Amino acid sequence: SIPLGYFGGLGAASRNGILFKGASFLDTITKVNTVVMDKTGTVTKGVFKIKDLIKDQNFTEDEFMKYLIAIETQSTHPIAKAILEYRINEHAYKATSVTEIAGKGLKGTVNEKLVLVGNKSLMITNQIEVPTETDAIVESIVMMAIDGKFAGYITIADELKEDALKAISNMRKAGIDDIIMLSGDKDSITQQVAKELGIDWAKGGLLPEEKLEEVEKLKKRPNAKIAFVGDGINDAPVLAISDVGIAMGGLGSDVAIETADVIIQNDQPSKIATAIKIGNSTRKIVW
Ligand code: ADP
Ligand code: MG
Repeated sequence: SIPLGYFGGLGAASRNGILFKGASFLDTITKVNTVVMDKTGTVTKGVFKIKDLIKDQNFTEDEFMKYLIAIETQSTHPIAKAILEYRINEHAYKATSVTEIAGKGLKGTVNEKLVLVGNKSLMITNQIEVPTETDAIVESIVMMAIDGKFAGYITIADELKEDALKAISNMRKAGIDDIIMLSGDKDSITQQVAKELGIDWAKGGLLPEEKLEEVEKLKKRPNAKIAFVGDGINDAPVLAISDVGIAMGGLGSDVAIETADVIIQNDQPSKIATAIKIGNSTRKIVW
């Protein structure tokens, strides 16, 4: 490849929609041997489609959605966006005191009832009895409990980004030995996506602090140089402690973008390998 100068490197990156927040990262990225990736919004589109709605018979479908929408209106999570797009009635209830529980979902008050919306872990920590049939479901599930009782769930599915497979093979060609996926989504889905992409190993169902613990463990490996690639609020702590933090700049959350060292402006994961290659070409002439 063509050797690039110091500014040439930053320029080449910029022409490829890659923003390096400092020239030193052009050098650090060439030393990376382990790439850790988030799933939702990083290798998948983060655009969920509603597949199924299964609710308790005490509610009409309309009423179920009114509660769900009331809570999700106050979230910016990709799951919330999907649910709001699916909106089948314009007059949702009003929710008050909605709070986000990182990696789990949301809780708030609707019609003076406590409403929980999120994953199984959120239900369990709030002593909600979850029907065992949900364990067999492969897709992501958004569960809801109203007034201490399980009210039903919707199943949602996401799809891979067009260049996800290419992203992995290009990283291998660029000399990355270890490609790892860490996700807050269900472990079964995380394993399925990892397998489809040929990722070495993956772990799902992680809380933000557990993602951090995993990356801290990886950092202790001898000679480890870690790049973490993510998009969410929950990824900001990991982006901060990685040798190179890479964020998706298009749909990525503001905190992720602020914390990262490198921004991929159009959200294409194949740009990770491009960034490494530009680093390598720059290094030949500058360092
Ligand atoms: P990821 O690491 O895959 O990007 P997050 O940490 O953002 O995942 O979310 C983890 C899990 O928490 C989601 O898979 C979902 O089950 C639940 N969750 C988070 N936010 C919401 C929300 N607004 N509505 C429903 N569930 C949510
Ligand atoms: Mg994400």
